[in-house]
Amino acid sequence: MTLRIGCIADDFTGGTDVAAAFRRAGLRTALVFGVPDADTSLPADCDAAVIALKSRSTPADEAVAESLAAQKWLWSKGAAQVYFKYCSTFDSTPDGNIGPVTDALLDAAGAPLTLACPASPPNGRTVYQGHLFVHDQLLSDSPLRHHPLNPMTDSSLPRLLAAQTPHRVGLVPLTTVRAGVDAVREALVAHERDGVRHVVADALTDEDLAVLGAAALELPVVTGAAGLAEGLGHAYPASGPAVAEPLPTGGRSAVLAGSCSARTLEQIAEFYAAGLPSLHLDVLAAAAGRDIVTEALAWYDTQDADRPVLVYASASPDELAAVQRQLGVAEAAAQVEELLGALAARLVERGVRRLLVAGGETSGAVTTALDIRTVLVADEADPGVPWTRTTTPHGDLALMLKSGNFGAPDLFVRALKETS
Ligand code: ADP
Repeated sequence: MTLRIGCIADDFTGGTDVAAAFRRAGLRTALVFGVPDADTSLPADCDAAVIALKSRSTPADEAVAESLAAQKWLWSKGAAQVYFKYCSTFDSTPDGNIGPVTDALLDAAGAPLTLACPASPPNGRTVYQGHLFVHDQLLSDSPLRHHPLNPMTDSSLPRLLAAQTPHRVGLVPLTTVRAGVDAVREALVAHERDGVRHVVADALTDEDLAVLGAAALELPVVTGAAGLAEGLGHAYPASGPAVAEPLPTGGRSAVLAGSCSARTLEQIAEFYAAGLPSLHLDVLAAAAGRDIVTEALAWYDTQDADRPVLVYASASPDELAAVQRQLGVAEAAAQVEELLGALAARLVERGVRRLLVAGGETSGAVTTALDIRTVLVADEADPGVPWTRTTTPHGDLALMLKSGNFGAPDLFVRALKETS
């Protein structure tokens, strides 16, 4: 089996997002959680494989080591090109990890230069004159300047990258992109001659990203967000509409939510408003030793098997602050992840075959608890939120892993109705 393209994503739900983009471009796409080992196999006939790492905010040397191991594995499966996927808001610390990881991937591939473009027009992320915009604001004027882990206070991608690499950084401006694929290729050749290693490209639209994708098709390493990945996917010969990936039928449906993001709280409210059964987990009681998992399962067993259920730890900002004050942030998170992981495993044992998980960290806890290493990407319920298909010892499972702020407010109700 030969892959057309391999991808390394620097966080979990970013992996889901970019996998959905490859599928939109018509590629049969697998998503692998964590660095694969020699025993990790891919579903048959995959065109693209995305390895989802958690390397965005880890020490740079760890992020580099994991990314190189992932690149090597992708090469072993036949991928000639490796796409490094990071956030469309270029989330990184002043000295990493985007620059160091990209340099390491380029060194390993023996490649002279790469193209970098985090534009994601459907999400309002565009790049002009190397400056990253979030809707109508420069990145540095947007709410991302207050991000708790990686505050983004500069919008200039060449400047941000230059701080993360010892190599030269250049720009392909929009005028060149609009001049077409050959003009971009010529600009890349000129940059290579000048010793530039990281070429930032402007893009305002999906059409711009399609031009960049076609121009970058032969580069061993390309970097960006889901937008350029889709452009690259469309440029592959014989890409077409995605092939249907049927989801398992039968069994029960459940949502597990651990995200406290505003959009997830709205999705929980819509589920409740639709008259569907939901249960809030008492994190403080669990920390005090009460067997909340057994209580939740007893509740689940009394519910109508034909209706989806929602079990959530998600809390409003006030409630979250109160729990965190009492337990500490790390202990609170550990409690929630243990509860939701254990519940996922027991629900699948009890016949749940459609499972929707809300929250990036929560998704990690659930896939770990279910020991799921690889999934195949199926249709999107909302942009960047695909269903996936996987197997468990108890049967096939339709699994949706969504980042806290992704999906429309009615996602939980609609996604589970559509697949039942
Ligand atoms: P998102 O994708 O929205 O960031 P995550 O699952 O990544 O969602 O993160 C949500 C975090 O909030 C997790 O670390 C989770 O453990 C924590 N959390 C969820 N509910 C509660 C709660 N009731 N009390 C304390 N922490 C919580």
